[in-house]
Amino acid sequence: MSSPSIPSAEPSTASANFKRLQARLRGLVGKAIADFAMIEPGDRVMVCLSGGKDSYTLLDLLISQQRAAPVDFELVAVNLDQKQPGFPEHVLPEYLKALGVPFQILEQDTYSVVKRVVPEGRTQCGLCSRLRRGALYRYAREHDIDKIALGHHRDDIVETLFLNLFHAGRLKAMAPKLLSEDGRNVVIRPLCYVPEREIVRYARARAFPIIPCTLCGSQPNLQRKAIARMLAEWEKTSPGRIDSIFHALRHVQVSQLVDPKAFDFASLVRTVPGDVAPIRGGAGAAEGDGDGGEDGAGDRAASDPAMASGSEADEAAADDARAEAAIRGFTPLEDWRERATLSPD
Ligand code: SF4
Repeated sequence: MSSPSIPSAEPSTASANFKRLQARLRGLVGKAIADFAMIEPGDRVMVCLSGGKDSYTLLDLLISQQRAAPVDFELVAVNLDQKQPGFPEHVLPEYLKALGVPFQILEQDTYSVVKRVVPEGRTQCGLCSRLRRGALYRYAREHDIDKIALGHHRDDIVETLFLNLFHAGRLKAMAPKLLSEDGRNVVIRPLCYVPEREIVRYARARAFPIIPCTLCGSQPNLQRKAIARMLAEWEKTSPGRIDSIFHALRHVQVSQLVDPKAFDFASLVRTVPGDVAPIRGGAGAAEGDGDGGEDGAGDRAASDPAMASGSEADEAAADDARAEAAIRGFTPLEDWRERATLSPD
């Protein structure tokens, strides 16, 4: 394959559009780091670099965080050369040297293992990813790495939610920060608030020397592809839907789900009229208890400013709560009536 171009350390475009995009992505990454306490002073952060758009973008944005952040932390970029046929070994070392970031290229022939173990025609990505993760985590343990940074973004998180929902019967997605099973590695996902479409724009503008993940000849994960297609279709017909789903992941109300392990339904007791906590901000499981807290719109703005004014869902939920409470005689009906008059929809 021909050698991809090696960009300079600075963005290749000085356009105002790119600068706005860059500032926005820096802001989202900074917010994610702060919200989830991803990086602490003195941390050694290992950035897993695959050669794809996501990990290049992650490295770029962490370098700018490192320059601007009030805390000192170290960065080391690590790539695992899995010995796929045609893997352009020179690309990442040349790119990383030009960038001036410390790096390490590991070598392990996981390609042969996957080919030997996985039957022809079956997807190899599951085993391939596990082997890659094993090698990277081992490196982190042996080199005193505090945090392992991965390039998963907002859309990966939403896709994982639906993969678990549709194929595993679980309500779970992908954590922005987690402890590995053996408790010896902390994994962080600083791109967790960043929509994939913005990473695509950023990577194009920066002209990263992308190395395709298809050198192995494997079928991609078909279920994930199908979910991504479904979400893209939804987004086309109902723009903002992915933002809304992601917003929901940040505002979980376990009292409105059906898991007795997650919420203590057994302890719920009837309340006596006149002795009732306010509906807004209440911690209980009052039916229709909507998320009317002030942080709703602001948090959506974190994933996309376009969502900053979209508080209709919150208002509708709050209306439901008022209606329910009014029916039970707990709050004056006038408050709800007034809103109903103002918002006939
Ligand atoms: S496409 Fe190939 S290299 Fe990429 S995860 Fe799947 S098996 Fe591994």
